[in-house]
Amino acid sequence: MFVMNNIKTWKTLPLTAPCFSCHSLASSSTVVSMTQKPPSSKFRRKSSYGTSRRSILKKSFNQEQVNFTAPFSDEPLVAIIGGGISGLICAFFLDKRGVRSTVFDTGIHGLGGRMGTRVIDEPNNNPFIFDHAAQFFTVNDSRFAELVNAWIDKGLVREWQGTIGELRNGGEFLPFLPSPPKYIATHGMRFLADSLLSETNLVNVVRPCWISKLEPFNGMWHLSENGKPCGKFDAIVVAHNGKCANRLLMTSGLPLIAKQMKRLELSSIWALLAAFEDPLPFSGNTEVSFEGAFVRGIDSVSWMANNTKKLLPSRSDGPHCWTFFSTAAYGKQNKVPQENIPTATATRVKEGMLEGVEAALGLSKGSLPKPFYTKLQLWGAALPTNTPGVPCIFDPFGRAGICGDWLLGSNIEAAVLSGIALANQIADCIQSPGTDPGEFAVGLNHEFQPLEGHDIGQFPGLGSEEKINAAQVYELVK
Ligand SMILES: Cc1cc2nc3c(=O)[nH]c(=O)nc-3n(C[C@H](O)[C@H](O)[C@H](O)COP(=O)(O)OP(=O)(O)OC[C@H]3O[C@@H](n4cnc5c(N)ncnc54)[C@H](O)[C@@H]3O)c2cc1C
Repeated sequence: MFVMNNIKTWKTLPLTAPCFSCHSLASSSTVVSMTQKPPSSKFRRKSSYGTSRRSILKKSFNQEQVNFTAPFSDEPLVAIIGGGISGLICAFFLDKRGVRSTVFDTGIHGLGGRMGTRVIDEPNNNPFIFDHAAQFFTVNDSRFAELVNAWIDKGLVREWQGTIGELRNGGEFLPFLPSPPKYIATHGMRFLADSLLSETNLVNVVRPCWISKLEPFNGMWHLSENGKPCGKFDAIVVAHNGKCANRLLMTSGLPLIAKQMKRLELSSIWALLAAFEDPLPFSGNTEVSFEGAFVRGIDSVSWMANNTKKLLPSRSDGPHCWTFFSTAAYGKQNKVPQENIPTATATRVKEGMLEGVEAALGLSKGSLPKPFYTKLQLWGAALPTNTPGVPCIFDPFGRAGICGDWLLGSNIEAAVLSGIALANQIADCIQSPGTDPGEFAVGLNHEFQPLEGHDIGQFPGLGSEEKINAAQVYELVK
């Protein structure tokens, strides 16, 4: 237990969540187990906010629920930790509701998280451009459709006219039907993310910044990056997931939020970016004519797309920049720390993926041309494989919420809908003084279900004529 009894603006509630069993994820320098002796006064360090032992005890493994009881400040400020599409959309919709926010993101080159685009300037060549995570998206929900239409009007998004389909081991390609339309970010996914907040008035963006600590004190959340204060906030949004979020939440005083985050399971996917001098050959002595394909029957490859054709359709000469993704099974099989990939693993994975591409294209062994540029990356926390199936999670007592794709699915649309939902939930809570905060609680106890879909996300309704006919036959005989 940690005691905050002389802090008037918030009190502790009894613990409703079970203890975590994730000691290994915590940084040993910040966790004080209740069974351990407190550090000697010699090593007691006051935090940058003037808190003392109380704050340190809060870091207990058996964390207790924070309960803010003071009214929100006159001009409430929300911290959004994560500048992927869900966090950015949350900021955008808070702005629409007149609520100020600050988005913190680790991105060095830009915002967007898993909507990443890599541009490589080559002195003697056209620049290489690759979307190295999200490739395209489909639209189902009317709220998402409204946003996408606005992005199309601004030239940020356009329909992907190139052929995409399913490529079977050996070089059989089945094109998908034109409907549902497939959308791409005109200049690459990251540039869409970077443009999303351009017309907001109440949003501040801080990057690159890695929030490493959340501390509730005097009725506000205090954020810091490795000991450096990053401001105080009325409410917080955790708009990222994985190990990093688990670590951040473990000692924050938000056991219910932390418990839900801990339940999330994520796949790992290798991305290989490769530039070729010439168009890729296809079985039967032709050139590859499709621009994107879900690959079937190959362990090491689940998706391939010609990013030059997709993003620079008017360019006729090289280089030809391709993004290849592994399957989730191959990612798991070859998992290593993503920030420190051993050279031997990198060599094996790269070779395995290029061999997979060769087989998928129906080429004889050794006949795939050598790329003159490659970049290998592991998405260690790539896509969610389970979901609570709620648009967002919000703890009104701790004034903290979560948004992200995994709350609803595994694609950009799910992340957008989650960001909208959480923004409205927080704005409703802030703008309804006197209402029982409990009324704004959402998603804190939802059970998780497995997620179906492609290895790189869900694209409802996408399929070839053959696939759709097969689905209809199945429906009839059911
Ligand atoms: C390989 C791959 C291919 C994909 N392909 C598709 C596709 O074709 N179509 C599709 O619709 N979806 C696709 N997806 C899924 C899509 O990218 C995600 O659903 C979506 O981008 C998730 O957005 P998000 O905001 O929930 O999370 P993220 O994009 O992960 O954003 C989280 C952000 O938080 C930041 N962050 C983390 N910790 C901190 C911290 N402590 N402090 C500050 N910032 C922090 C991260 O750096 C990141 O920028 C793909 C994903 C992958 C990995």
